[in-house]
Amino acid sequence: MTYGREEQLWIPESDLDGMSVETLAVRAGQIRTGQLEHSDAIFPTSSFVYGSAAQAAARFGGEEPGNIYSRFTNPTVQAFEGRIAAMEGGEKAVATASGMAAILSTCMALLKAGDHVICSRGVFGTTNVLFQKYMAKFGVETTFVSLTDMEQWQAAVRPETRMLFIETPSNPLCDVADLAALSALAHANDALFVVDNCFCTPVLQRPLEHGADLVVHSATKYLDGQGRCVGGVVVGPAKYLDEIYGFIRSAGPTMSPFNAWVFQKGLETLPIRMRAHCANALELARWLEQQPEVEKVFYAGLESHPQHELAKRQQDGFGGVVSFQVKGGREQAWRFIDATRMISITANLGDVKTTITHPATTTHGRLAPEDKAKAGITENLIRLSVGIEAIDDLKTDLDRGFQALKD
Ligand SMILES: *Cc1c(COP(=O)(O)O)cnc(C)c1O
Repeated sequence: MTYGREEQLWIPESDLDGMSVETLAVRAGQIRTGQLEHSDAIFPTSSFVYGSAAQAAARFGGEEPGNIYSRFTNPTVQAFEGRIAAMEGGEKAVATASGMAAILSTCMALLKAGDHVICSRGVFGTTNVLFQKYMAKFGVETTFVSLTDMEQWQAAVRPETRMLFIETPSNPLCDVADLAALSALAHANDALFVVDNCFCTPVLQRPLEHGADLVVHSATKYLDGQGRCVGGVVVGPAKYLDEIYGFIRSAGPTMSPFNAWVFQKGLETLPIRMRAHCANALELARWLEQQPEVEKVFYAGLESHPQHELAKRQQDGFGGVVSFQVKGGREQAWRFIDATRMISITANLGDVKTTITHPATTTHGRLAPEDKAKAGITENLIRLSVGIEAIDDLKTDLDRGFQALKD
C-alpha cells in the first residue's frame, strides 16, 4: 500500500531540475532513512554489513550498488557531494579530506609524468608548493603566469600542456580572470581548465557554466563558513570525476562523515551568508576608499577596479575579501592590525567572523622578494575577510586602526 509522501525518502533529482542555487542549498542531495527525519542523518561508520555472503560478493563484484567501506563511499559524504554538485551545476562531486587533497587528487588522477601545467601566480600558497615541489618530483612541470594577462597564458602553452589552473578572484588582490577566454585557450590546446572556486562559492560564480572542466574547493572556508572543519571537494563531469574517485579510493584522502555532515548543514545557509558577506564587503571597500590614511583598495565591486565590468558579468556578487594598502610600510600595517580589538587576527578566511591578515609576513611570507613584488604583496597591504557582523561595529573596530595611524 502506498501512503504518499511518507514513502518519499529522498527528493528525486528530476524534481530539482531548474531550481535556483538557494533552493538546491537546502534541498539537493538529502537522503532520508526509514525514520523520516527532517534534518540530515549522520552515518559515522567505517564499514557496512550484508544480508548474506552472496550479497557481499555482489557488492564487492560491483554487480550490486551499495556501501562497503567508508574510504570508498559513505551516505553522509554522498549527501554532501550530491548537494554541492547540484549547486555548481556539475554531474558529480567527490569530497576530500581538505582543499589541498582535492587539488592533489585532481592532479594525480588526470596528469602524468611529462605533462605541463600553467597556473596563475597568485594562487593559495600551499597550491604553489604542491605544484613547484611535489608535482615537479613526479615529472609534472608548472609555469606561473599573471592571472589577468592573456598574452602570458598564450606564450606559456607548450605541446605537453595538459592543465590550466586558476583561482578567481585572486587572493589577496581580487584580480578577476576571464573564465571564457581561459577555457577557450585550454580547449584549443587539449588541456583541462581547473578553477578553485573557494572565494566565490557556487552562490556567486559557477565556473562550469563558463567552460571550466573541473571546480575544486576548500570546503574549510565559506562552505562551512563557521571555522569548524577542514575539507575539500572536486566537481565536474563523470568522465573526470570517476578517475578522481578512483585515486581517492586508492590513496585514501577521504572526507569523514562528521565533517561531511557539518559541510552539508553549512551549505544550507551559504546563499544568505554570501549575500551578507558581499553587502558588508562592498560597504567597507567604499568606506576604506574614503579614508585619508588609505593608499589603495582592492575589491572587484569598486568602479575603480580594472576588472569591475568582467566581474559584474561573470559573478553574481563580488565576494567577502577586501584588501587595502595603508600609507607607509610594515610598521603602519602592523600598527593598524594591532589596534583593532574585535576582528580576529588570523590567516583564515571565509568565516562569519571578520578576520584581518598581513599577507607579506603570513600567508605570502614564504614567497621570494621578487615573487612578492610580482604578485603585488607589499608591506603596507592588509587583507580583510569581511564577516557578517553589523557594518557599523566593523567600522568602529577598523577606525581604531586609523586612529592609531594618526597618533
Ligand atoms: C584554504 C585554501 C585552499 C586549501 O584548502 P585546505 O582546506 O586548507 O586544504 C585552497 N585554495 C584556496 C583558495 C584556499 O583559500
